[in-house]
Amino acid sequence: MHGKEDKMKYGEMSQQGNDFNNEFSDWKEECGVFGIYAPNLDVARYTYFGLYALQHRGQESAGIAVADGEKIMIHKGMGLVSQIFGRKTLDGLQGKIAVGHVRYSTTGASMLMNAQPILVNYSRGMMALAHNGNLVNTRQLRYELEEGGAIFQSTIDSEVIASLIARTGKQKIEEGLMEAIKHIKGAYALVIATENKLVAMRDPHGWRPLCLGKVDGGYVVSSESCAFDTIGAELIREVKPGEIIVIDDEGLKSIQTPVPDHPSLCVFEFVYFARPDSTIDGQNVQLAREAMGRRLAQEHPTDIDLVIPVPDSGIPAALGFSQESGVPLSMALIKNRYVGRTFIQPEQKMRERAVSVKLNPIRALVEGKRVALVDDSIVRGTTSKKIVDMFRRAGAKEVHFYVSSPPVAYPCFYGIDTSARSELIASSHSVEETCKAIGADGLYYLSTEGMVAAINEVPSNHFCLACFDGHYPVEIPRLGHPQKLGIEETRAKVDTR
Ligand code: SF4
Repeated sequence: MHGKEDKMKYGEMSQQGNDFNNEFSDWKEECGVFGIYAPNLDVARYTYFGLYALQHRGQESAGIAVADGEKIMIHKGMGLVSQIFGRKTLDGLQGKIAVGHVRYSTTGASMLMNAQPILVNYSRGMMALAHNGNLVNTRQLRYELEEGGAIFQSTIDSEVIASLIARTGKQKIEEGLMEAIKHIKGAYALVIATENKLVAMRDPHGWRPLCLGKVDGGYVVSSESCAFDTIGAELIREVKPGEIIVIDDEGLKSIQTPVPDHPSLCVFEFVYFARPDSTIDGQNVQLAREAMGRRLAQEHPTDIDLVIPVPDSGIPAALGFSQESGVPLSMALIKNRYVGRTFIQPEQKMRERAVSVKLNPIRALVEGKRVALVDDSIVRGTTSKKIVDMFRRAGAKEVHFYVSSPPVAYPCFYGIDTSARSELIASSHSVEETCKAIGADGLYYLSTEGMVAAINEVPSNHFCLACFDGHYPVEIPRLGHPQKLGIEETRAKVDTR
């Protein structure tokens, strides 16, 4: 277990690391949640390994809360799961129910007080709550609650949800939750432990994924099914949009709350966020990404020598692109896997070359060749430009850039930390202008229709596509996110489908 000082150091280090990593990724993963009800198992260790599998969804902080029937114990800290939990810590977390969380901050700063799960002592007992997603009316709710005397210990929207549940005064947690969700708008996949119950819920739009499984006489819930594989659990099904699952010593109970006409599952789970070995709504993520690559090749027939993925996220689409086009796949862009969270920020004059620390093309493979780089998305365009520059310096004859999703022109308000609208290159540049800005010989995006069709197990009208088309399934209140520019325009395009 780390002392407070150590935790703060991790926080500082992770901030440095993330600054550096931001050079390469404009998408910041959201959060991952995990829950288990299993009286016969070491629930803390199962949660630890579940969180390990979900680490890609957030690396700033992590926490595990364990309920033993009478009380809830919790441990959380800044950094990676492996940095926060040791054997002694896990040995001290004994019980029958656990909830866990890995966090990337989408609302609230990166600091220990904002780490989850949140532990609340209220008139009906204790609850530990872990949340993936982002509410869009947090400011308004928080203002109203504070006016009514509520005190908050963190700056995250998840504490607002816990406060709303506590204030309902309902005896049963599921009844308090049903009451609380009447007030909240936005994205939430929740796992909550009380002393005796595990409760899971997905918001009525189903933005963020949440699945249900079983393990050795118990039940598990997780943001992604890859965590079930890690702990030897079996996937039963998705938690449905608007569904509340309650698990206690009487078994499993499902409560369906009202839902809109169709769900709004975040399409970027398939494009980038989710692990390739996860299955969401019956669709394996790797297969969807390969299909996106095949469709990209169909939409943009090409005359080139090599298909080169931008690692790691471009690999599945590049594989599909190569299969469909018949052009050989070459792993000619090498990623340094040891550039981690504790990397020291390069000095200013090194910063322009900072991307070379992480990525480097193999000159012997690309010299004199017409290459097609394949990546999952372009957000700000700064990393894409640096990669194109590298290939030019390595002697490539032509450098074409293929993207396995459409241009990202609008910010996300539902749990993904994208740039402000003004920083999204597609918000102000045509495809031709973006191509010029990144210095490529050609730039080719997958169409929205092609992307959605590639995820063939999910109906095409079941997705949120707001960052591509600006049609936000739930209105973004004016006070919600003033830091993301272009808010007026965003409000004008609220979805009326
Ligand atoms: S706006 Fe984009 S990133 Fe955000 S939930 Fe919708 S599809 Fe996902």
